[in-house]
Amino acid sequence: MKYIEPHAHMVSRTTADYEAMALAGCKVISEPAFWAGYDRSSEQGFHDYFSLLTGFEPQRAAKFGIKHFTWMCINPKEAEDVGLANAVIDLIPEFLKRDNVLGIGEIGLNKNSRNELEVLERHIDLADQHDQLILVHTPHLEDKLKGTRLIIDALKNFSNITTDRVIIDHVEEHTVGMVKDAGFWAGMTLYPESKLTARRAIDILEKFGTDKIWMNSACDWGVSEPLATPKAARMMAQRGHSEEMLDKVFYQNPKEFMSQNSKFTI
Ligand SMILES: [Zn+2]
Repeated sequence: MKYIEPHAHMVSRTTADYEAMALAGCKVISEPAFWAGYDRSSEQGFHDYFSLLTGFEPQRAAKFGIKHFTWMCINPKEAEDVGLANAVIDLIPEFLKRDNVLGIGEIGLNKNSRNELEVLERHIDLADQHDQLILVHTPHLEDKLKGTRLIIDALKNFSNITTDRVIIDHVEEHTVGMVKDAGFWAGMTLYPESKLTARRAIDILEKFGTDKIWMNSACDWGVSEPLATPKAARMMAQRGHSEEMLDKVFYQNPKEFMSQNSKFTI
């Protein structure tokens, strides 16, 4: 089955992972900017990371026949220092011109702090000014419900940002309805230990339908599984879902969302 992995942190992954994903049918990977496994001490550290995401990582993916796209931001986990965040945000416009950059992400909230919210609003403003797609990270566990509400409110304050051009990722049972009712795209992240299992994600699809939703593996530095996405597709097939439905969730939907940026081609 051909599929798109719409959210994967490949800088944390080996070539063996790229090979396994290619063998499983992966055609495209999209990699939001996030934490790099350590806190960066200056904006220069982010400049180097953005250069890697727009230079070396697409070359690494190409060796396995996979197209690599990316998203630019300072992630909420490192956004508590507003001075640093502003310096990083000032670097981003230059990178938005690169061939494999699809938009601003993954922005959002981590601990729902006032500083994180201020940095989130600056990112949304940046997306607004440069007419960019947005990929949103929502907080973990007990902070998720409140954080998702705060993020939706922040997005709604920008009248030019249309819901079709924003995906809110890491939704779970208690937040997917809120995201879909507000008109945004929703992402479901499959993790062995936290966030969603494939079984829970498929339950959600069966309840909420397959429009404007995708699944991803995130596969970062923690316990995670780069093949979580195709494994969920196999479980969906075992539960009797049609090939057309699998193609919609794992290929057509991410293609439809990301194709809103004309740089996205397969
Ligand atoms: Zn991520």
